Amino acid sequence: MICEMCGKDVPATRPMMVQGAKLNLCSNCAKFGDSYKPSNRSDDGHYASGGGNMSVIEERLERRERRMQTRDIYAANGGVELIDNYGAVVRKARLKTGMTEEQFAKSINEKKGTILKIEAQSLVPDDKLISKLERALGIKLKEAVQEGGAVSGSQKSQGMTLGNFIKTEK
Ligand SMILES: [Zn+2]
Repeated sequence: MICEMCGKDVPATRPMMVQGAKLNLCSNCAKFGDSYKPSNRSDDGHYASGGGNMSVIEERLERRERRMQTRDIYAANGGVELIDNYGAVVRKARLKTGMTEEQFAKSINEKKGTILKIEAQSLVPDDKLISKLERALGIKLKEAVQEGGAVSGSQKSQGMTLGNFIKTEK
C-alpha cells in the first residue's frame, strides 16, 4: 500500500486526518495526522459538548425528581404528624400562660369547648388550629414523620415517630 504522504510502499496504511483531509498514511507518517473519525470533526465536537450539557441537565432533572419523590413521601404521610400527647402539651403551655381555658379560647378566637376537647385529646385539631395553638403558646405540636429526609430510611422509620417513644414512656 502506498502512503499518501511520503509515497512509500508499506505493508499497511491507516486512514488519518491531515488538515481536514483523509489520507492513508504509513505508520511513520501517521504521527503527523490526527486520528481519523468517519464523521465530520466539527460535528463531533458539537455532539460531545452537547452530550456534556445533556448529562448535566439530566442530572439536575434526576435530582429534582428525587426531591419531588421525597416530597411525595412526606405528603403521603402528611409530612408531619400531630404529636401523640398534644393535649398535655397544650394544657401545660396554656397553664404556663396563666390563662383559663376560656381566656385562652378567646385569645385565639376559639370556643372554650374546643380547647377543652383538645386538651382532653377528644378532638384532633386541624392544621389551621394546630398552627394557631403553636403560635399562641410557643409550642410545637407536630413532629416530622421522618428525620434526615433520607428516602430509604423513611420506610423503616415510618410508624416510629418521636410520638411513639413519648407514648411508651407514659
Ligand atoms: Zn508515509
